[in-house]
Amino acid sequence: VPVTAAPDCLFCKIVAGEIPAEVVHTTERTVAFRDINPQAPLHVLVVPREHEPNAAASAAADPATFAEIATTARSVATAEGYDDYRLVFNTGAGAQQTVFHTHCHVLAGRDLTWPPG
Ligand code: 5GP
Ligand code: ZN
Repeated sequence: VPVTAAPDCLFCKIVAGEIPAEVVHTTERTVAFRDINPQAPLHVLVVPREHEPNAAASAAADPATFAEIATTARSVATAEGYDDYRLVFNTGAGAQQTVFHTHCHVLAGRDLTWPPG
């Protein structure tokens, strides 16, 4: 599937292999790699290969991509022995989104309190 990269986007560069990352899973439409600053024993980011700024934009552009993010997240968690995990899409600067390329945080392996704070 051809993808459009955005200039100066960190996660587009990781998808393209231009910046190294510890990739744990890839699919036709997604790449999953470990967060550089993990907040749990399992902390992986699942990103669409296609550049979109946030989850709703990705879903609007291609629902199949959004579905693949969720199934990839489950694959990553179960491959590391976690049946229970948390998926988070920080959306907007006020919600602590810092990288404006859709990414799903997959967190597991510690007590995941709710609400998250
Ligand atoms: P956000 O705050 O936008 O929801 O999440 C961005 C995430 O990207 C953060 O958890 C941060 O640690 C992670 N991150 C930032 N830069 C890099 C990087 O260069 N490599 C990797 N693997 N993760 C990164
Ligand atoms: Zn991007």
